[in-house]
Amino acid sequence: MKTLLPTSTAGSLPKPSWLAQPETLWSPWKLQGDELADGKQDALRLSLQQQQLAGIDIVSDGEQTRQHFVTTFIEHLNGVDFNQRKTVRIRNRYDASVPTVVGPVSRPKPVFVEDAKFLRTQTSQPIKWALPGPMTMIDTLYDDHYKSREQLAWEFAKILNQEAKDLEAAGVDIIQFDEPAFNVFFDEVNEWGIKCLERAIEGLKCETAVHICYGYGIKANTDWKKTLGSEWRQYEAVFPKLQQSNIDIISLECHNSHVPLELLELIRGKKVMVGAIDVATDTIETPEEVAATLRKALQYVDADKLYPCTNCGMAPLSRDVATGKLNALAAGAEIVRNELLAR
Ligand SMILES: [Zn+2]
Repeated sequence: MKTLLPTSTAGSLPKPSWLAQPETLWSPWKLQGDELADGKQDALRLSLQQQQLAGIDIVSDGEQTRQHFVTTFIEHLNGVDFNQRKTVRIRNRYDASVPTVVGPVSRPKPVFVEDAKFLRTQTSQPIKWALPGPMTMIDTLYDDHYKSREQLAWEFAKILNQEAKDLEAAGVDIIQFDEPAFNVFFDEVNEWGIKCLERAIEGLKCETAVHICYGYGIKANTDWKKTLGSEWRQYEAVFPKLQQSNIDIISLECHNSHVPLELLELIRGKKVMVGAIDVATDTIETPEEVAATLRKALQYVDADKLYPCTNCGMAPLSRDVATGKLNALAAGAEIVRNELLAR
Protein backbone atom coordinates (compact mmCIF):
# COMPACT_ATOMS: atom_id res chain seq x y z
CA MET A 1 0.00 0.00 0.00
CA LYS A 2 1.34 3.40 -0.98
CA THR A 3 -1.24 5.24 1.15
CA LEU A 4 -0.01 6.02 4.65
CA LEU A 5 -2.30 4.49 7.33
CA PRO A 6 -4.66 2.75 4.86
CA THR A 7 -8.02 2.09 6.49
CA SER A 8 -10.12 -1.06 6.29
CA THR A 9 -12.71 -2.98 8.30
CA ALA A 10 -12.32 -6.35 9.97
CA GLY A 11 -14.89 -7.69 7.49
CA SER A 12 -18.61 -7.82 8.01
CA LEU A 13 -21.00 -4.88 7.69
CA PRO A 14 -24.75 -4.72 8.36
CA LYS A 15 -27.03 -6.14 5.68
CA PRO A 16 -29.99 -4.19 4.24
CA SER A 17 -33.30 -5.00 5.96
CA TRP A 18 -34.80 -6.34 2.72
CA LEU A 19 -32.07 -9.02 2.58
CA ALA A 20 -31.87 -10.20 6.19
CA GLN A 21 -33.18 -9.16 9.60
CA PRO A 22 -30.89 -6.33 10.81
CA GLU A 23 -28.89 -6.42 14.04
CA THR A 24 -29.13 -10.19 14.19
CA LEU A 25 -26.42 -12.82 13.82
CA TRP A 26 -27.31 -15.91 11.72
CA SER A 27 -30.26 -13.93 10.37
CA PRO A 28 -32.18 -15.98 7.77
CA TRP A 29 -32.42 -14.63 4.22
CA LYS A 30 -35.61 -12.82 3.28
CA LEU A 31 -35.28 -13.69 -0.44
CA GLN A 32 -35.01 -16.98 -2.31
CA GLY A 33 -33.58 -18.40 -5.51
CA ASP A 34 -32.61 -15.90 -8.20
CA GLU A 35 -33.98 -13.03 -6.15
CA LEU A 36 -31.62 -13.96 -3.33
CA ALA A 37 -28.64 -14.15 -5.70
CA ASP A 38 -29.48 -10.71 -7.14
CA GLY A 39 -30.21 -9.32 -3.68
CA LYS A 40 -26.82 -10.43 -2.37
CA GLN A 41 -25.07 -8.70 -5.28
CA ASP A 42 -27.05 -5.50 -4.74
CA ALA A 43 -26.23 -5.60 -1.02
CA LEU A 44 -22.56 -6.07 -1.88
CA ARG A 45 -22.72 -2.96 -4.08
CA LEU A 46 -24.32 -0.94 -1.28
CA SER A 47 -21.80 -2.17 1.22
CA LEU A 48 -18.96 -1.18 -1.11
CA GLN A 49 -20.50 2.25 -1.60
CA GLN A 50 -20.88 2.67 2.16
CA GLN A 51 -17.14 2.05 2.54
CA GLN A 52 -16.23 4.27 -0.39
CA LEU A 53 -18.33 7.21 0.80
CA ALA A 54 -16.64 6.96 4.19
CA GLY A 55 -13.23 7.01 2.49
CA ILE A 56 -12.11 3.49 3.43
CA ASP A 57 -8.93 2.62 1.51
CA ILE A 58 -9.00 -1.20 1.46
CA VAL A 59 -12.54 -2.35 0.76
CA SER A 60 -14.37 -5.63 1.27
CA ASP A 61 -17.65 -7.27 0.34
CA GLY A 62 -18.98 -6.49 3.82
CA GLU A 63 -19.66 -10.25 3.96
CA GLN A 64 -23.06 -9.56 2.40
CA THR A 65 -23.28 -13.00 0.76
CA ARG A 66 -22.81 -15.01 3.93
CA GLN A 67 -25.03 -15.67 6.88
CA HIS A 68 -22.15 -16.31 9.24
CA PHE A 69 -18.40 -15.90 8.92
CA VAL A 70 -17.63 -19.56 9.64
CA THR A 71 -20.77 -21.56 8.90
CA THR A 72 -21.38 -20.30 5.37
CA PHE A 73 -17.97 -21.50 4.25
CA ILE A 74 -18.43 -24.91 5.88
CA GLU A 75 -21.88 -25.32 4.30
CA HIS A 76 -20.16 -25.52 0.92
CA LEU A 77 -17.87 -28.40 1.91
CA ASN A 78 -18.33 -32.14 1.65
CA GLY A 79 -18.01 -34.29 4.74
CA VAL A 80 -20.11 -32.14 7.09
CA ASP A 81 -23.71 -33.09 7.86
CA PHE A 82 -25.78 -30.06 8.84
CA ASN A 83 -28.79 -32.23 9.76
CA GLN A 84 -26.82 -34.18 12.33
CA ARG A 85 -26.32 -31.66 15.11
CA LYS A 86 -24.58 -31.88 18.46
CA THR A 87 -24.23 -29.32 21.22
CA VAL A 88 -20.65 -28.21 21.85
CA ARG A 89 -19.01 -25.39 23.73
CA ILE A 90 -17.76 -22.65 21.36
CA ARG A 91 -14.42 -21.17 22.34
CA ASN A 92 -15.00 -22.43 25.91
CA ARG A 93 -17.66 -19.72 26.16
CA TYR A 94 -21.17 -20.70 25.10
CA ASP A 95 -23.05 -23.79 23.97
CA ALA A 96 -24.27 -24.06 20.41
CA SER A 97 -25.87 -26.74 18.29
CA VAL A 98 -23.36 -27.48 15.55
CA PRO A 99 -23.10 -29.74 12.48
CA THR A 100 -21.19 -33.02 12.52
CA VAL A 101 -18.13 -34.02 10.53
CA VAL A 102 -19.17 -37.42 9.16
CA GLY A 103 -16.49 -38.13 6.53
CA PRO A 104 -13.42 -36.72 4.78
CA VAL A 105 -13.83 -32.97 4.26
CA SER A 106 -13.30 -31.46 0.81
CA ARG A 107 -14.28 -28.45 -1.30
CA PRO A 108 -16.26 -29.63 -4.34
CA LYS A 109 -16.09 -26.15 -5.89
CA PRO A 110 -14.98 -22.60 -5.03
CA VAL A 111 -17.11 -20.95 -2.34
CA PHE A 112 -16.64 -17.17 -2.53
CA VAL A 113 -14.76 -16.80 -5.79
CA GLU A 114 -17.70 -15.58 -7.90
CA ASP A 115 -18.49 -12.98 -5.21
CA ALA A 116 -14.87 -11.85 -5.22
CA LYS A 117 -14.84 -11.59 -9.02
CA PHE A 118 -17.98 -9.47 -8.83
CA LEU A 119 -16.47 -7.14 -6.21
CA ARG A 120 -13.35 -6.87 -8.40
CA THR A 121 -15.49 -5.60 -11.29
CA GLN A 122 -16.98 -2.91 -9.03
CA THR A 123 -13.81 -1.21 -7.81
CA SER A 124 -10.15 -0.69 -8.59
CA GLN A 125 -9.34 -0.16 -4.89
CA PRO A 126 -7.40 -2.85 -3.00
CA ILE A 127 -9.73 -5.64 -1.84
CA LYS A 128 -9.48 -7.64 1.35
CA TRP A 129 -11.35 -10.93 1.60
CA ALA A 130 -12.04 -12.77 4.87
CA LEU A 131 -12.09 -16.53 5.33
CA PRO A 132 -12.49 -18.43 8.59
CA GLY A 133 -9.24 -19.80 10.02
CA PRO A 134 -8.74 -23.56 10.44
CA MET A 135 -8.80 -23.51 14.25
CA THR A 136 -11.96 -21.41 14.40
CA MET A 137 -13.61 -23.76 11.88
CA ILE A 138 -12.98 -26.90 13.94
CA ASP A 139 -14.32 -25.11 17.00
CA THR A 140 -17.79 -24.77 15.45
CA LEU A 141 -18.18 -28.47 14.57
CA TYR A 142 -18.62 -31.84 16.21
CA ASP A 143 -16.02 -34.20 14.74
CA ASP A 144 -17.22 -37.78 14.42
CA HIS A 145 -14.73 -38.73 11.70
CA TYR A 146 -11.15 -37.60 12.31
CA LYS A 147 -11.59 -37.44 16.09
CA SER A 148 -8.53 -35.20 16.20
CA ARG A 149 -8.76 -31.41 16.34
CA GLU A 150 -5.31 -31.09 14.85
CA GLN A 151 -5.98 -33.41 11.92
CA LEU A 152 -9.29 -31.75 11.09
CA ALA A 153 -7.64 -28.32 11.24
CA TRP A 154 -4.95 -29.57 8.89
CA GLU A 155 -7.56 -30.80 6.39
CA PHE A 156 -9.35 -27.44 6.57
CA ALA A 157 -6.03 -25.64 6.03
CA LYS A 158 -5.59 -27.52 2.72
CA ILE A 159 -9.12 -26.58 1.65
CA LEU A 160 -8.62 -22.94 2.66
CA ASN A 161 -5.43 -22.88 0.63
CA GLN A 162 -7.37 -23.96 -2.49
CA GLU A 163 -9.97 -21.25 -1.86
CA ALA A 164 -7.31 -18.62 -1.13
CA LYS A 165 -5.48 -19.40 -4.38
CA ASP A 166 -8.74 -19.01 -6.31
CA LEU A 167 -9.48 -15.72 -4.52
CA GLU A 168 -6.00 -14.47 -5.36
CA ALA A 169 -6.59 -15.35 -9.01
CA ALA A 170 -9.89 -13.43 -8.85
CA GLY A 171 -7.94 -10.29 -7.96
CA VAL A 172 -8.11 -10.19 -4.16
CA ASP A 173 -5.19 -8.21 -2.72
CA ILE A 174 -5.30 -9.30 0.92
CA ILE A 175 -6.68 -12.61 2.18
CA GLN A 176 -7.58 -12.56 5.85
CA PHE A 177 -8.17 -15.54 8.10
CA ASP A 178 -10.44 -14.94 11.08
CA GLU A 179 -9.04 -16.76 14.10
CA PRO A 180 -10.81 -15.63 17.27
CA ALA A 181 -9.93 -19.12 18.54
CA PHE A 182 -6.29 -17.96 18.71
CA ASN A 183 -7.35 -15.93 21.75
CA VAL A 184 -8.49 -19.02 23.64
CA PHE A 185 -6.51 -22.17 22.83
CA PHE A 186 -2.97 -20.90 23.39
CA ASP A 187 -1.17 -24.26 23.62
CA GLU A 188 -2.80 -25.57 20.45
CA VAL A 189 -2.11 -22.30 18.63
CA ASN A 190 1.57 -22.61 19.41
CA GLU A 191 1.76 -26.35 18.75
CA TRP A 192 -0.11 -26.48 15.43
CA GLY A 193 -2.55 -23.58 14.99
CA ILE A 194 -0.05 -21.21 13.43
CA LYS A 195 1.43 -24.04 11.32
CA CYS A 196 -2.06 -24.77 9.96
CA LEU A 197 -2.45 -21.10 9.08
CA GLU A 198 0.87 -21.19 7.23
CA ARG A 199 -0.39 -24.24 5.32
CA ALA A 200 -3.50 -22.21 4.37
CA ILE A 201 -1.37 -19.43 2.85
CA GLU A 202 1.21 -21.70 1.17
CA GLY A 203 2.19 -20.48 -2.29
CA LEU A 204 0.18 -17.25 -2.16
CA LYS A 205 1.69 -14.11 -3.65
CA CYS A 206 -0.95 -11.71 -2.36
CA GLU A 207 -0.78 -10.35 1.17
CA THR A 208 -2.17 -12.39 4.04
CA ALA A 209 -3.67 -11.40 7.36
CA VAL A 210 -4.90 -13.07 10.52
CA HIS A 211 -7.68 -11.42 12.53
CA ILE A 212 -7.63 -12.18 16.25
CA CYS A 213 -10.30 -10.48 18.30
CA TYR A 214 -12.46 -10.80 21.37
CA GLY A 215 -15.53 -11.40 19.21
CA TYR A 216 -18.64 -9.62 18.03
CA GLY A 217 -20.48 -7.44 20.53
CA ILE A 218 -22.93 -10.24 21.39
CA LYS A 219 -23.87 -11.08 24.98
CA ALA A 220 -21.84 -14.33 25.23
CA ASN A 221 -18.73 -12.38 24.28
CA THR A 222 -19.32 -9.32 26.44
CA ASP A 223 -20.05 -11.62 29.42
CA TRP A 224 -16.82 -13.48 28.74
CA LYS A 225 -14.89 -10.21 28.54
CA LYS A 226 -16.10 -9.33 32.03
CA THR A 227 -14.27 -12.41 33.35
CA LEU A 228 -10.95 -11.45 31.79
CA GLY A 229 -9.93 -8.90 34.41
CA SER A 230 -8.56 -5.43 33.93
CA GLU A 231 -5.64 -6.38 31.69
CA TRP A 232 -6.18 -8.62 28.68
CA ARG A 233 -2.86 -10.32 27.99
CA GLN A 234 -4.17 -13.17 25.77
CA TYR A 235 -2.25 -11.89 22.76
CA GLU A 236 1.00 -12.26 24.67
CA ALA A 237 0.73 -16.06 24.48
CA VAL A 238 0.64 -16.25 20.69
CA PHE A 239 2.46 -13.12 19.49
CA PRO A 240 6.03 -14.50 19.67
CA LYS A 241 5.23 -17.40 17.30
CA LEU A 242 3.07 -15.18 15.06
CA GLN A 243 5.94 -12.73 14.78
CA GLN A 244 8.05 -15.61 13.41
CA SER A 245 5.31 -16.78 11.01
CA ASN A 246 4.86 -16.06 7.30
CA ILE A 247 1.64 -14.12 7.87
CA ASP A 248 2.07 -10.52 6.65
CA ILE A 249 -0.57 -8.66 8.66
CA ILE A 250 -2.05 -9.15 12.13
CA SER A 251 -5.50 -7.65 12.77
CA LEU A 252 -6.19 -6.87 16.43
CA GLU A 253 -8.71 -5.41 18.85
CA CYS A 254 -7.19 -2.30 20.43
CA HIS A 255 -9.81 0.41 21.03
CA ASN A 256 -11.76 0.35 24.32
CA SER A 257 -10.34 -3.09 25.04
CA HIS A 258 -8.15 -3.88 27.99
CA VAL A 259 -5.32 -5.08 25.79
CA PRO A 260 -2.09 -3.41 26.95
CA LEU A 261 -0.84 -1.92 23.70
CA GLU A 262 2.80 -2.50 24.63
CA LEU A 263 2.12 -6.16 23.70
CA LEU A 264 2.32 -4.95 20.08
CA GLU A 265 6.07 -4.71 20.62
CA LEU A 266 6.08 -8.54 20.46
CA ILE A 267 5.04 -8.47 16.79
CA ARG A 268 7.31 -5.58 15.79
CA GLY A 269 8.08 -5.94 12.08
CA LYS A 270 4.65 -7.22 11.12
CA LYS A 271 2.01 -5.00 9.59
CA VAL A 272 -0.74 -4.45 12.13
CA MET A 273 -4.41 -3.73 11.51
CA VAL A 274 -5.09 -1.72 14.64
CA GLY A 275 -8.71 -1.95 15.80
CA ALA A 276 -9.61 1.67 16.55
CA ILE A 277 -13.40 1.19 16.46
CA ASP A 278 -15.29 -0.64 19.21
CA VAL A 279 -17.93 -2.88 17.63
CA ALA A 280 -19.53 -3.82 20.97
CA THR A 281 -21.19 -0.43 21.51
CA ASP A 282 -23.53 1.79 19.51
CA THR A 283 -21.63 4.85 20.67
CA ILE A 284 -19.87 6.29 17.66
CA GLU A 285 -16.24 7.17 18.26
CA THR A 286 -15.10 10.71 17.58
CA PRO A 287 -12.31 11.08 15.02
CA GLU A 288 -10.15 12.35 17.89
CA GLU A 289 -10.74 9.12 19.88
CA VAL A 290 -9.73 7.07 16.84
CA ALA A 291 -6.64 9.25 16.42
CA ALA A 292 -5.72 8.76 20.09
CA THR A 293 -5.77 4.95 19.71
CA LEU A 294 -3.69 5.15 16.54
CA ARG A 295 -1.15 7.45 18.20
CA LYS A 296 -0.78 4.98 21.08
CA ALA A 297 -0.28 2.12 18.63
CA LEU A 298 2.35 4.14 16.77
CA GLN A 299 4.60 3.75 19.80
CA TYR A 300 4.88 0.04 18.94
CA VAL A 301 4.05 -0.17 15.23
CA ASP A 302 6.08 1.61 12.56
CA ALA A 303 3.95 4.14 10.69
CA ASP A 304 4.37 2.40 7.34
CA LYS A 305 3.06 -0.83 8.90
CA LEU A 306 0.02 0.58 10.68
CA TYR A 307 -3.38 -0.13 9.12
CA PRO A 308 -6.28 1.54 10.98
CA CYS A 309 -9.19 -0.90 11.25
CA THR A 310 -12.22 -1.92 13.32
CA ASN A 311 -11.95 -4.22 16.35
CA CYS A 312 -14.11 -6.84 14.66
CA GLY A 313 -16.96 -7.15 12.18
CA MET A 314 -19.91 -4.76 12.34
CA ALA A 315 -22.65 -7.15 11.11
CA PRO A 316 -24.69 -6.95 14.35
CA LEU A 317 -24.82 -3.12 14.35
CA SER A 318 -27.42 -0.88 12.71
CA ARG A 319 -26.44 0.55 9.34
CA ASP A 320 -26.47 4.11 10.70
CA VAL A 321 -24.12 3.24 13.54
CA ALA A 322 -21.82 1.31 11.20
CA THR A 323 -21.73 4.25 8.78
CA GLY A 324 -20.92 6.64 11.62
CA LYS A 325 -18.12 4.38 12.78
CA LEU A 326 -16.67 4.03 9.26
CA ASN A 327 -16.67 7.81 8.91
CA ALA A 328 -14.95 8.20 12.29
CA LEU A 329 -12.32 5.64 11.34
CA ALA A 330 -11.46 7.43 8.11
CA ALA A 331 -11.48 10.86 9.76
CA GLY A 332 -9.35 9.70 12.70
CA ALA A 333 -6.80 8.12 10.37
CA GLU A 334 -6.70 11.35 8.38
CA ILE A 335 -5.82 13.35 11.51
CA VAL A 336 -2.85 11.11 12.32
CA ARG A 337 -1.81 10.84 8.67
CA ASN A 338 -1.57 14.64 8.50
CA GLU A 339 0.44 14.72 11.72
CA LEU A 340 2.90 12.18 10.33
CA LEU A 341 3.22 13.98 7.00
CA ALA A 342 3.82 17.32 8.77
CA ARG A 343 6.82 15.94 10.63
ZN1 LIG B 1 -13.43 -10.40 15.05
